[in-house]
Amino acid sequence: MASIAFIGLGNMGLPMAANLLKAGHAVKGFDLSSSARDAASDAGLELAADLLDAIRAAEVIITMLPAGVHVVTVWTDIAGKARPGSLVIDCSTIDVESARKAHAIAESAGLASLDAPVSGGTGGASAGSLTFMVGGTGDTFARALPLLEAMGRKIVHCGATGAGQAAKICNNMILGISMIAVCEAFALGEKLGLSHQALYDVASTSSGQCWSLTSYCPVPGPVPTSPANRDYVPGFAAGLMLKDLKLAQQAALATGAATPLGAAAAQLYGLFNKAGQGGRDFSAIIEMLRGAG
Ligand code: NAD
Repeated sequence: MASIAFIGLGNMGLPMAANLLKAGHAVKGFDLSSSARDAASDAGLELAADLLDAIRAAEVIITMLPAGVHVVTVWTDIAGKARPGSLVIDCSTIDVESARKAHAIAESAGLASLDAPVSGGTGGASAGSLTFMVGGTGDTFARALPLLEAMGRKIVHCGATGAGQAAKICNNMILGISMIAVCEAFALGEKLGLSHQALYDVASTSSGQCWSLTSYCPVPGPVPTSPANRDYVPGFAAGLMLKDLKLAQQAALATGAATPLGAAAAQLYGLFNKAGQGGRDFSAIIEMLRGAG
């Protein structure tokens, strides 16, 4: 069993840390926010006084933080102070450039490192059924696998450093674009007098089939568990979708990739967020698209 420092005990980090604890690991957590620390303590997690207290004796350090700037800052603080040979894993969703910078910081401090962003949301984090997309060497991946399996169900080694983040933003660009496509189809169907159920029954078994339709159907009824049935309480918040679409656009600009639909999706989710809707599920964008015609 490993001795683990878990940094960032928010909506995702706390249930992930709790699953490591449940699997028998020694977990010491740290978060800057007092409310996150209180929730972690209520969940039975041992808390560190500060970052250095958390990592001092750890063999493995996991970060689950809001953005690239937080990860680079924390990994810089860790470098030189963590036990030599420790393994550092970042599970946050961040830009590929910051992920590679974090790996370089770890490498120069003699630490093994992985980028391992997740998909599956807070439900998957609690259930231990996340999908991990991992970047780093094969040896480091093999070392981390038993720990990732305590938090997830599907663990994919995507390639070298940064490949996990690359896979994550490509996947979520598909998701953002496909949700808008599904919303546009339902809004058009409504204008044509087509029932939601009829469109669902056809598209879900035809070439229009996709996750946005069959898991997160943006109208109430056809998929009873989709956020549309509970006034678009997330689920996956539109603000997080915008964050991921912006990361994809940043990467497209840096590499010269053509992503015109990704750009359009980022713009539409930008407008939706600007209208104060960022806390709602990302499928609620159908309301804006209905009004756009
Ligand atoms: P969150 O805001 O709930 O948690 C982040 C935590 O990090 C906060 O508690 C914050 O206080 C803490 N933090 C920030 N800087 C810190 C520092 N320097 N030291 C210690 N703690 C610090 O966010 P979340 O929903 O848990 O998401 C975390 C990451 O996972 C993000 O990158 C997000 O994009 C990604 N993600 C989220 C979801 C989701 O459904 N929420 C799904 C997949 C991926």
